[in-house]
Amino acid sequence: MVFQGLAEKLQDTFKKLRGKGKLSEKDVKAALKEVKLALLEADVNYKVVKNFIKKIEIRAVGHEVLASLTPGQQVIKIVNNELTELMGGSKSALSFADSPPTVIMLVGLQGSGKTTSTGKLAKSLKQDGKRPAMIAADIYRPAAIKQLQVLGDRLDLPVFTMGDQSSPVDIAKAGISFAQSNNNDVVIIDTAGRLHVDEEMMDELKSIRQEVKPDEILLVVDAMTGQDAVKVANKFDDLLGINGVILTKLDGDARGGAALSVKAVTGKPIKFVGMGEKLDALEVFHPDRMASRILGMGDVLSLIEKAEASIDAEKAMELEEKLKQNEFTLEDFLDQMEQVRNMGPLDQILGMIPGLSGAGQLKNLQVDEKQLDHITAIINSMTPEERRKPDKINGSRRKRIAGGSGTSIQDVNRLLKQFKQTKKMMKQFSGGAKKMKGRLPFF
Ligand code: GDP
Repeated sequence: MVFQGLAEKLQDTFKKLRGKGKLSEKDVKAALKEVKLALLEADVNYKVVKNFIKKIEIRAVGHEVLASLTPGQQVIKIVNNELTELMGGSKSALSFADSPPTVIMLVGLQGSGKTTSTGKLAKSLKQDGKRPAMIAADIYRPAAIKQLQVLGDRLDLPVFTMGDQSSPVDIAKAGISFAQSNNNDVVIIDTAGRLHVDEEMMDELKSIRQEVKPDEILLVVDAMTGQDAVKVANKFDDLLGINGVILTKLDGDARGGAALSVKAVTGKPIKFVGMGEKLDALEVFHPDRMASRILGMGDVLSLIEKAEASIDAEKAMELEEKLKQNEFTLEDFLDQMEQVRNMGPLDQILGMIPGLSGAGQLKNLQVDEKQLDHITAIINSMTPEERRKPDKINGSRRKRIAGGSGTSIQDVNRLLKQFKQTKKMMKQFSGGAKKMKGRLPFF
């Protein structure tokens, strides 16, 4: 889950607050001290933390909060609001040019995730009905051009290149002419980074900016680098001017410092976050949803969006019909499991479900993707007949299936039991969402 350490500490602190009926000023101050420490440990900028705590304290120790029937909840609500504000308040959309193509320039240090983000952004724009093209202007990093071409092939989108012997300015200019003639309405320029911010890189980026007048300059920074990412953002903004930030590698064990300080320190919003290496692992950054995730309140809206993007509506209707007719089979079970897996890594998905999203609960749940591989192997080792009529799977069949899938008879038994329970539960679900009581079919 995102910012595990920070989330756990904040959630622990608030659990204590919630447990108390009445709160005194001292209770709130003690809790805020813990919040302050948690933020500092997460590598949030010191000044940002100080301001943040001061703001909350002013709002939280007032009579209205302390005298309310649910003071703990009120304090959490204030923290949630302030966290959201700290990260920019509301989402920051891309601005598109009145006359296409819209030019988006990605800049950043080497290894921050520029090329990958170029592909991800192109994919997301394509899904939104745009016709993006990518320009390979990183002529210094070996393989950057090839990497972008591979992404272009996978996405079935054009990548403009001129090899690594022309200047990035010429490549960018020619790339935009190409996009115009090719009817592309958005172009994303993948520029070259360096290991550190240096004059040569900045001069080159300024020349490109001068020549192509981008509608958006987005800085790509690696969340794992914490406060360094914020320093880099400050420098790029001072020297080049940026419109926003793409914060990558939030799926790793980034502590949160960058996400929580970038806007406050630079004044520039985080527009997207990278949640993995795959091309669909780019999310629009919603400060309110991120605050909810950090505080263990889940993120139902993102979950629904992910489900809509990856679950086939027709299949869902078919499934509903099957459930009504009591024809739900192990094949459907497998199919449904694959669809859920398409939504992304399970711990990310579960982290969005309120109730399951508390850092503690997730740890106990221990989602093991390997176990899902086992389930797939077991079902694949069954005959079509067995998948449709699992009741027929007797002892000797169980033994054969276990052998065929490289699992044990206990694994097969467990799966069959799980399937039965799922079937029962989904039947209830199809009769009314309320009966589901927030449970996911598989767990
Ligand atoms: P560039 O030098 O800035 O173009 O960086 P790349 O796009 O080549 O990315 C550097 C490395 O970071 C690659 O191995 C990417 O797969 C990886 N990467 C990029 N974005 C993410 C992300 O959001 N999450 C994770 N886990 N890895 C990422």
